[in-house]
Amino acid sequence: MTASQAGQLFVVATPIGNLSDFSQRAIDALKAVDLIAAEDTRHSKPLLQHFAITTPLQSLHEHNEQQRSELLLQRLQAGESIALISDAGTPLISDPGYRLVSLVKAEGVRVVPVPGSCALITALSASGIASDRFSFEGFLPPKAGARRQALSQLKNEQRTLIFYESPRRLLDTLKDCVEIFGAERRACLARELTKIHETIETRPLLELVDWVSGDSNQQRGECVLLIEGASDAVTADEQEMQRVLTLLLPDLPVKKAAAIASGITGCSKNEAYQLALKLQQK
Ligand code: SAM
Repeated sequence: MTASQAGQLFVVATPIGNLSDFSQRAIDALKAVDLIAAEDTRHSKPLLQHFAITTPLQSLHEHNEQQRSELLLQRLQAGESIALISDAGTPLISDPGYRLVSLVKAEGVRVVPVPGSCALITALSASGIASDRFSFEGFLPPKAGARRQALSQLKNEQRTLIFYESPRRLLDTLKDCVEIFGAERRACLARELTKIHETIETRPLLELVDWVSGDSNQQRGECVLLIEGASDAVTADEQEMQRVLTLLLPDLPVKKAAAIASGITGCSKNEAYQLALKLQQK
């Protein structure tokens, strides 16, 4: 069997709430294939029934993806066509499918995207926060310490930051964001997108915390959190580090100067090291 005789793998986006967002092309593809690999077959059944899609279903989730992918590859190589869907939105985006796509692609199977809803893009498009450059960070770690560490590493990121967050952790995460990014940094909470209670609220972080604390409805449903990127103006911390490094660099190797500067200023070693490298090149 050559690659050209193999079936195709369709990666099909499904709605994130509003069923009218399901494209005709997606419905046609799901009807035409021999098999639909779904993250959770029970979850997808009502959606498929609604659109009169009767194609057989098989599960492909986090826990069986490795082994299931091999079997799906065999079926594709035997000439069958398969569609991959997740519970909602675009497969592979904080959802299973990466292992399957990379495996079948490496074996020369054609992978056909059928695009549609994706919560992060939907949120970004209506947030009023810069959309020219952004970094999608997926879900933050659930434990407070790891979450704060992950956020601290993003403190100076100039691109818009986008997170998926559980409503149970939303308020704690927002409070951490105020501490790390500052009260004035703008942020957007995009909740229940495309559904009846859709809310897209953009405010400075501290105001957003007050607003969410004061209305428990804002701590329900599905949400995306967007944080404006850091401004490229040099911060007071950076100014201090720059001053210390400028004194140390003529007499010390970069690594040593960065370690001492980080000890004096309280900034991270990595930040100090990156700045030291920059200063040395000047
Ligand atoms: N693959 C999906 C996509 O394309 O967006 C994301 C799957 S991920 C497991 C689920 C997370 O996406 C939710 O916890 C929430 O953060 C976000 N999400 C999904 N649907 C949403 C919606 N209608 N409104 C807001 N956020 C949503």
